[in-house]
Amino acid sequence: MKLSAFHIAKPERRGAATLLFVALSLCVAVGVWVGTYRYFTAQELQRAEARMSLYHSTVLSEVERFEHLTQVLAVDPFVISGLQGDGLATLNARLAVFASAAGLDAIYLMEPDGLTIAASNVEDAGGFVGQSYAFRPYFQTALNGETGTFYGIGATTGLPGYFIADPVRNDAGEVIGVVALKLSLAPFEQAWRDAGEQVFLTDRHDVVLLASDPMWRYRALDPLSQDERSRIETARQFPGQALEALNWSADEDARWAEINGSWRLHVVSAGLPHSWRLHYLRRNDSAVLRAWLATGAFLAISGLGLFLAQFQRSQRLGQALKRSEEEEAQLRRANAALAQEIEERRRAEQRLEETRGELERASRLAALGQLSASVTHELGQPIAAMRNQLAAHEIKHSSGKLTQTIGGLVDRMEGITRQLKFFARPRVEPFEDIDLRDCVDAALELMVPSLDALKVAVVHDKPGHPIIVRGARLRLEQVLINILRNAVDAMEEAETPTLLVSYGVGDGKVWVEVSDTGSGLGEATLAELREPFVTTRASGQGMGLGLAISSGIMDDHGGKLEARNRQGNPGAVFRMVLAERTIKEVAAQ
Ligand code: ADP
Repeated sequence: MKLSAFHIAKPERRGAATLLFVALSLCVAVGVWVGTYRYFTAQELQRAEARMSLYHSTVLSEVERFEHLTQVLAVDPFVISGLQGDGLATLNARLAVFASAAGLDAIYLMEPDGLTIAASNVEDAGGFVGQSYAFRPYFQTALNGETGTFYGIGATTGLPGYFIADPVRNDAGEVIGVVALKLSLAPFEQAWRDAGEQVFLTDRHDVVLLASDPMWRYRALDPLSQDERSRIETARQFPGQALEALNWSADEDARWAEINGSWRLHVVSAGLPHSWRLHYLRRNDSAVLRAWLATGAFLAISGLGLFLAQFQRSQRLGQALKRSEEEEAQLRRANAALAQEIEERRRAEQRLEETRGELERASRLAALGQLSASVTHELGQPIAAMRNQLAAHEIKHSSGKLTQTIGGLVDRMEGITRQLKFFARPRVEPFEDIDLRDCVDAALELMVPSLDALKVAVVHDKPGHPIIVRGARLRLEQVLINILRNAVDAMEEAETPTLLVSYGVGDGKVWVEVSDTGSGLGEATLAELREPFVTTRASGQGMGLGLAISSGIMDDHGGKLEARNRQGNPGAVFRMVLAERTIKEVAAQ
């Protein structure tokens, strides 16, 4: 039988492979984390840039929107005549209408010395009229004939704003005053806050002008130099503000900034007027989270792969085990079948051997039969003639010693030919139902003289019920006589010669057993002893035909003769086994 060729890796090799797989998976997981983190961070930066560009353009457009308004106002006849001292009340009203329509904090007109003579907020508590803004840089620039701009905290209102100023000229082109407007950029802060964004605007000194977080406002990204501080103070740009440095560090190339201890993605936009810069900060938590999710998914997939591989392996292992068990069972069955076949052959050989032995014995007995027939035939006449001659001699001369001796010899010769006749022509006697106990009684009766002569104690263990067999009475008696005679002969030397005759029934068989206290069979077996002419008796005392004849008779009856030594004590046991004849069978006959 061909055994399965399925191979399974050694456990330590499998363990190493699993470890390698886990180590590789972890390495790849690190790669996945880094790769996805970079990718998602780049995405976040793109989003940040998009938002930044939106905020940048809104700030820029808001600042540029009013760039030319002061130029237009500077040529307004009401403004010019106002500077010449006419119609200031009308001008105030006119400026108030403009400011309100444009959504400006204030529009106001100053004389060359900086004194405000008209303003849109003249009616308000903190109105500009009467205030001097000569110190403001935008005023000075405008007075010099150019457009001045400025971001700062209002000197009167204390509110921050973007200031734009232009010179007002007379017909001769001389600067006779300055018209300015103040625009509040505070709504941006609110809009950024509403959008949940972190945005702030810094000026050229990196001072925060506007911020979504009010705490950052008027803080410097880097500590201000003394020079910068004095310039700011002169312009009264941020009155009352310490302008302390913000807890801030930024790596603009790497687009990271740390503010108050938290790292944020950082996008800066330049291109605004006055070197203003807009800063946009964005948390990167979602990129980190998504990177972890992707890594987790990868680990879950590789874990699942490992689990599936292990599961498949265990399945294959189970199948291989099952196959090998089946093969083993097949092998066992084949072995058992082989063993049975061997046993059958052995039995067949034994039967063959027995049959061959029987055949040989049968052919020997047949040859003996032919020989016996011719011997008994040839000797029959001379023995009969001798007996006649002896009888005639006795009649004439009465019986003398010689005739007695010769008569004894003739008797023995007749005995021999009588035994030989069993082989020569087996008597055909009809079978009948016989009680074995009667046969034993008859045989013992015939043996009485020999038993008495040797003082043999006979124990006949005779059952109270008949032991019926079917057979020829005389021939079965013949067997019993042979057995009894052999037993007596074997006990010639015994101190207390004893014969025990017993019976048995079982398995559809009956038997009668003769046990003696004689010499026993020694090493000889019945098969050897029942061979014709096998004898241990002295010449002339036995021909070695008794057991041969007895075995033949038992065979004819479908029974058998068995012999063994007595256990423990000297002596032999001979057993005649025959088929049981039940009472029912007898009655049905
Ligand atoms: P014979 O009695 O003429 O020798 P048998 O065929 O009857 O021939 O017996 C053969 C031999 O078997 C005997 O010579 C004897 O040696 C042996 N034998 C038979 N019965 C007994 C017995 N009861 N005890 C011991 N030996 C026995």
